[in-house]
Amino acid sequence: MPDTLKDPGRRAFLDRFRSGTDVQSRPELSAIRPPWAVQFDANCTGCADCVPACPEGIIALDGANLPAIDFNKGECSFCEACADACSENVFDRSVEPAWHLDITVAKNCFAEQGIYCRSCGDICPERAIRIPPQLGGRARVIIDSDTCTRCGACQGACPADAILITPHKEYAHE
Ligand code: SF4
Ligand code: SF4
Ligand code: SF4
Repeated sequence: MPDTLKDPGRRAFLDRFRSGTDVQSRPELSAIRPPWAVQFDANCTGCADCVPACPEGIIALDGANLPAIDFNKGECSFCEACADACSENVFDRSVEPAWHLDITVAKNCFAEQGIYCRSCGDICPERAIRIPPQLGGRARVIIDSDTCTRCGACQGACPADAILITPHKEYAHE
């Protein structure tokens, strides 16, 4: 554990940024780290400087006191404020894409059930979502994987909680 986290005052300060539902005590494979955080596992100290720096409020400390993205709180605007706030060798803004994430649409999508909904398509800043009609009044959500930046806007906007963005298995942080 980094020395900064052993200090009770510092610990109490960091607890304010903890996500309320996540009480695990070790890093999660499912955690999404900030964009461009390519040296995260090796160099993130859990100092939490990136947490209040995010203007979208989508970074919180997870159960291991490490910063994780929560797209249910908002979307990443790729403003780079998290990278600016970090004093360790964690971020490399020259890498593309900014992160390796998978995005899926579950069967409970309203459009796929025949209920009119275009919330994800309407909010997508990249116009990466098409929702062509299918037979029987249903529609199908199709995400262009190459255009999609994994900004997370559609996950938070989906009223059915059908969209899920997760770390690509190969790149999951341990
Ligand atoms: S790039 Fe900006 S919006 Fe995205 S996580 Fe970092 S600080 Fe937040
Ligand atoms: S917002 Fe959700 S429920 Fe609506 S069409 Fe998109 S994936 Fe389906
Ligand atoms: S995650 Fe991809 S599909 Fe969803 S809003 Fe962002 S760019 Fe569009």
